[in-house]
Amino acid sequence: MSFELNENQKMIAEMIRDFGAKEITPFRKEWDDEQKFPLELFKKLGELGLMGVLVPNEYGGSGFGYFEYVTAIVELTKLDPGIGLSMAAHNSLCTGHIMMFGNEEQKKKYIPKLASCEFLGAWGLTEPNTGSDAGNMRTTAVEDGDYYVLNGAKNFITHGVSGDVAVVIARTGEVGDSHGMTAFIIDRDTPGFRGGRKEDKLGMRSSETAELIFEDCRVHKSQVLGEVGDGFIQSMKILDGGRISIAALSLGIAEGALEAAIQYSKERQQFNKPISSFQGISFKLADMATQVEASKLLIYQAADLKNKGQNVTKESAMAKLYASEVSVSVANEAVQIFGGYGFTKDYPVEKFYRDAKLCTIGEGTSEIQKLVIGRQILK
Ligand SMILES: Cc1cc2nc3c(=O)[nH]c(=O)nc-3n(C[C@H](O)[C@H](O)[C@H](O)COP(=O)(O)OP(=O)(O)OC[C@H]3O[C@@H](n4cnc5c(N)ncnc54)[C@H](O)[C@@H]3O)c2cc1C
Repeated sequence: MSFELNENQKMIAEMIRDFGAKEITPFRKEWDDEQKFPLELFKKLGELGLMGVLVPNEYGGSGFGYFEYVTAIVELTKLDPGIGLSMAAHNSLCTGHIMMFGNEEQKKKYIPKLASCEFLGAWGLTEPNTGSDAGNMRTTAVEDGDYYVLNGAKNFITHGVSGDVAVVIARTGEVGDSHGMTAFIIDRDTPGFRGGRKEDKLGMRSSETAELIFEDCRVHKSQVLGEVGDGFIQSMKILDGGRISIAALSLGIAEGALEAAIQYSKERQQFNKPISSFQGISFKLADMATQVEASKLLIYQAADLKNKGQNVTKESAMAKLYASEVSVSVANEAVQIFGGYGFTKDYPVEKFYRDAKLCTIGEGTSEIQKLVIGRQILK
């Protein structure tokens, strides 16, 4: 495994930096202040091939692997973590689920439109009363002739309102049966399906997080993903890949905060010296830089295994656990290095600090990652 960025990764990083300087950086404060989801930006990311990074060329995607995908998330996240989160959720959750478990007809119908972002994707597993314990979900899908009738609600769903298509997991069997849940592809205009309340969040405010509501929503059986009863098992596999995304998101935040802190520490003078010359500051930066590198190694290990088609349950959970905790810690130290200025919105670190916290929660909290890792190492 090489630790150098490959040519594609370099090209993606440069393209995102150029694009972001015009299309993201000038607007990110407004999106954050007003909690505005910039839907049009994602259409442009689609034109750049960033909404179908892992999708094979034959389905209209960029046909890249996980190294390129990680780079794309990291670079977008350095500019605005909320944009990185939305891009990652669209790619690895909704699109990834249809790509991995859809039949040929479903893939042909949805994947090219998702890869171009003509369709924005959402993915609904979490419910108001079942987050970590998602297998205990209460949204039901009851068979009725050629249809399933869905009733219930999902919450905290990325693109819950703006998504054109959602992959939704609902109960088709008994509560407590891990084979009692099924995944469906649901078009936005399906009668009985609507977006609900949008959350007002601490961070990741440019990413839309909202409810999905189902009221006698009739979904044709042709929209079932894979086998009836496999929805929960499929979701766990999707989250194995999704956790690499959140780890990459964490890395982008940590790298962004570290770069800002290094630069500021060289410029800021106290006691007639740059603050970087104080050992108290340089030791902080040394710890931050080491943690960032360690995150990167765990993420690239998981990405490498994923590229080879191997199981990544343990490795992606380790990468997500470690990188997310590092992003919170590095963002915290970056604010400290900025002193009072770090507490203001004039510098990027306070936003990194707020955005980082999502990384220890979304797609399985740190505690749940430890459960996953524990189960794997004690098998
Ligand atoms: C911005 C954002 C975007 C999101 N996007 C999506 C999305 O697109 N699709 C989707 O389906 N979901 C999404 N989620 C939901 C997210 O995955 C859940 O919030 C997360 O899994 C935690 O679930 P919960 O919030 O219900 O917390 P809970 O499960 O209620 O957890 C509360 C606390 O209890 C701890 N805990 C729970 N069980 C255990 C245990 N067994 N042992 C030890 N500690 C435990 C948790 O670690 C946590 O600290 C999103 C959430 C956010 C905030």
